[in-house]
Amino acid sequence: MTAKLIKGSEIREQILAEIKEEVQKIKKSHGKVPGLVTILVGQNPASISYVTLKVKTAEECGFKEVQDNQPETISEADLLALIDKYNRDDSIHGILVQLPLPKHINEKKVLNAIDPDKDVDGFHPVNVGRLMIGGSEVKFPPCTPAGIQELIVRAGVETKGAEVVVVGRSNIVGKPIAMMMVQKGVGANSTVTIVHTATKDLAYHCKRADILIVAAGVPGLVKPEWIKPGACVIDVGVNRVGEKISEKTGKKVAILRGDVDFDEAVKVAGYITPVPGGVGPMTITMLMKNALKSLKFTLGIA
Ligand code: NAD
Repeated sequence: MTAKLIKGSEIREQILAEIKEEVQKIKKSHGKVPGLVTILVGQNPASISYVTLKVKTAEECGFKEVQDNQPETISEADLLALIDKYNRDDSIHGILVQLPLPKHINEKKVLNAIDPDKDVDGFHPVNVGRLMIGGSEVKFPPCTPAGIQELIVRAGVETKGAEVVVVGRSNIVGKPIAMMMVQKGVGANSTVTIVHTATKDLAYHCKRADILIVAAGVPGLVKPEWIKPGACVIDVGVNRVGEKISEKTGKKVAILRGDVDFDEAVKVAGYITPVPGGVGPMTITMLMKNALKSLKFTLGIA
């Protein structure tokens, strides 16, 4: 068997096209577009490139995009005041604070200062609680897990009653995706197991999975013999395992590898996400979806 590839890079384009169309419709009917502010503190090169991609995507979607760059020396009080300003600004529907923040600033305090109704990353404890309750309580599902669920749904994989095994229990991927898959509803209603570093027999659990979601950050952790034939394998891992010269640009680029031994797993699985080009492109896409949703909530049309 050769698994069907679930290409996040293609699904991303479909979703962005849907978002653009909806933004134009709302602009016509209500005269408003989603407003998204990205606060970047300092000059961390990885943060700059991530923020640049967010800004570009938001502009592509027809959003009002504000990039607010602050110096590394900004005080915690000034950063909190800035967040308060955007919390009160009716033209802003989503507030993003790019992490990491400088050491003199308490990240948790800053993230918790964002109005939960503008927390499009879905990391505020209020939104984590809403996710746990499920159903119509959920406002902003966290973006990477939301992207994973979208990939599974758009690939046409049955989730109702499926055995889902999630490898990893982080707050940004493992725990929220497990919580989402266990809820009643479309793209969920699964029987979920979370495995982690203290799990006794990882292989045993993985082998039972109809849908195996791997977010461990360990290159090649999941072996092909751990995969149930025909299973859907979602590889969230993005691990830099070296560098190469890009044929396109002639510049040095990272060699990326997932948490699954892709070359062998593709012969056993029914569906699989590649790395790169699988889950990766979905995170910013779902962020845009959350920002649009936020505007729709304020207009009472969500
Ligand atoms: P994390 O380090 O916060 O969590 C990893 C989890 O995996 C931990 O809960 C740990 O218990 C578990 N784990 C680690 N090694 C294990 C092992 N040998 N056996 C069993 N469990 C093990 O990482 P994270 O933030 O959840 O990210 C996981 C991976 O996903 C990373 O490679 C990260 O780069 C990638 N990631 C990708 C995206 C994206 O594509 N958009 C977004 C977030 C994370």
